[in-house]
Amino acid sequence: MVYPSFDAILQSVATSPDLENLEALLCIDDTQQMEKLFSLARNIRDVTSGKRMVLRGLVEFSNYCRNTCFYCGLNRTNASVSRYRLSEEEILACAHDIAAQGIGTIVLQSGEDAFTSLYLSKIVEKIKDRYNLALTLSVGERPASDYRDWKLAGADRYLMRIESSDKKLYESIHQGRTLSSRITCLDVLRDLGYQVGSGIMVGFPGQTVSHIAQDIKFFCERDFDMIGIGPFIPHEQTPFRSSPGGDLLLTLKTIALTRITTKNAWIPSTTALGSLDRDCRLDGLQAGANVIMPNFTSLSCKKKYEIYPNKEGSNMRGSESLASLSSLARSAELVVDGSRCDSLKKSYIQNL
Ligand code: SAH
Repeated sequence: MVYPSFDAILQSVATSPDLENLEALLCIDDTQQMEKLFSLARNIRDVTSGKRMVLRGLVEFSNYCRNTCFYCGLNRTNASVSRYRLSEEEILACAHDIAAQGIGTIVLQSGEDAFTSLYLSKIVEKIKDRYNLALTLSVGERPASDYRDWKLAGADRYLMRIESSDKKLYESIHQGRTLSSRITCLDVLRDLGYQVGSGIMVGFPGQTVSHIAQDIKFFCERDFDMIGIGPFIPHEQTPFRSSPGGDLLLTLKTIALTRITTKNAWIPSTTALGSLDRDCRLDGLQAGANVIMPNFTSLSCKKKYEIYPNKEGSNMRGSESLASLSSLARSAELVVDGSRCDSLKKSYIQNL
């Protein structure tokens, strides 16, 4: 029996994301093989998406949440969180700062808060009216009519991670919720004309490399415009408090394989990667990521938006500045791009 070589497997996943090959590549631990994997991911990124590090300004505008996700510190059973919701003026002030820094996208994220669709529509309208910004929402599962209202108000994009494309695993970490309703939301968003992002955490309890391989295949099949991947970080106030955190190298291999197979998706080097023992966002960029999401939430609220502990990462209210981001880009041999950077996917471009 002749086994295909590492190089042959790597070349083959670049043309067809076969589950067995993806799983084999997720398991490599040889340093040279890993460098080859990351190098191919960087080449594919540079050719399909340019040598760019794109910026998206993040505003965490509410930490209220009605869900009980087993991994997330904002889950509603965590009574030690001091809950906040930013006022319209506060959110507009963040939008002002993002535009003033020359960043082309604002991302409005929250827990699954019970605000009305009108509350968010008004904010979206005002931001789109006053600033030349692309606008991304990430507020979880909502009725199709809300997604439609926000699209009509001017929202351009929506982020909602699938967390796991495996029904059993998904439903084991999301009490009372179903994978099919999550997928329906992603379908509705796409049908409404949003640019849609999804993604996963790496290394949460119960997840295996074969689940991750299946998730990468799911990303390819659905041709997402954006895909966020970060390590799971245990939070004290959740049922997963004593589980180990996700492995850095496995996270980087997942990013690289997602790049190699999805080609031109926008892939952030996530805040979670920036919140490990050291800031690993450069490693994410070197594994094929090309987006950084500096946080514009005020420091006092940012501390309360504790989906996981030590959420340091990228923060324009703290130590981060455009100069430090340019230096991060330079280290990754990329150039900062502050333009809105819409989807590069053919289906999106053809519909323009
Ligand atoms: N309510 C929104 C936003 C959720 S927070 C929604 O449902 O889409 C954004 C992402 O943070 C989640 O999708 C999850 O993948 C990630 N996250 C949450 N808890 C985490 C943890 N403990 N470690 C790492 N990532 C986590």
